[in-house]
Amino acid sequence: MSSGLLNSEAVKAQAHRLGFSACGLARPHDVPTEWAVRYEQWISEGRHGQMSYLQNHCDLRFHPSLLVPGVQTIVSVALSYHPGGEPTQPGLAWYAQGEDYHTVMRRLLHQLMEAIGGEGRCFVDTAPVLEKYWAWQAGLGFIGRHTQLVIPRQGSAFFLGELFCTQQADAYDTPLNETSPCGSCRRCIDACPTGAISEDGMDARRCLSYLTIESRQEEMPAWATPHLRECFYGCDRCLRACPHLHAPSGAPRQEFRASPELLGMTPRDWQHLTPEQYDTLFRESAVRRARYEGLKRNIRLNGGKTNT
Ligand code: SF4
Ligand code: SF4
Repeated sequence: MSSGLLNSEAVKAQAHRLGFSACGLARPHDVPTEWAVRYEQWISEGRHGQMSYLQNHCDLRFHPSLLVPGVQTIVSVALSYHPGGEPTQPGLAWYAQGEDYHTVMRRLLHQLMEAIGGEGRCFVDTAPVLEKYWAWQAGLGFIGRHTQLVIPRQGSAFFLGELFCTQQADAYDTPLNETSPCGSCRRCIDACPTGAISEDGMDARRCLSYLTIESRQEEMPAWATPHLRECFYGCDRCLRACPHLHAPSGAPRQEFRASPELLGMTPRDWQHLTPEQYDTLFRESAVRRARYEGLKRNIRLNGGKTNT
């Protein structure tokens, strides 16, 4: 049984107090047909690669009231992982330098839900939620040519999370223009070494982030490996090319900083990484998604160019 109205300004104030860079409130609705058709076409063309979870539960994905019956408000939040001036391990994407974002985001979402007296459910990247769509609907930013959410003058180095609340809010945010504010910019397309981004969107099968993290093939396509350069887990090149990218004011979150042990890894260390070292370095890390065997494959293909 839900009670009371959510106060929009109070929700945003609590989100900022907890360290979120952006927060907005969207009124739940069925996802428009053109979005659903575009998504299903993307799936039917196989551009999601082996990420089969993206093709499941589309009814819940397109109808939030099926996912959370009685949902009245979707609170969308963005949490920065921009490292600012802090050192990073260049073999890993920025988002994977520190603690697993699922753990951090889930903890913060629960704190936010409690602080605002919300009732409902918290989601972080593990449920059929069109999170970029809802972030756009909640006024956080726009979806750029690289298909990530872009927060104007801040960029895309953000984790997204959602509260699906069964209370109404006193005010809802409005989306930025649907037509992409990217304008004539094509920097992310030009920066992508494998042609994964086009005017038609993203082909995950050509994306180094997908190939180094999600793909379970024992080998990588031969055309991809010369583009790995120093990276062996993820790829930030489109994200870093975006003119909107700026470090947020204030220090990066402690949880997302690289440990001294990770920063101290040399190319030789990576080449000889043992399962025990892997467990120690990545105990609480999103890097576990690639598993030890996957990471070793990437390091082998990367040819020891880490830390160059
Ligand atoms: S992450 Fe890298 S490979 Fe993937 S789309 Fe961006 S630039 Fe291209
Ligand atoms: S790099 Fe340019 S085209 Fe790509 S998302 Fe950013 S603004 Fe849009």
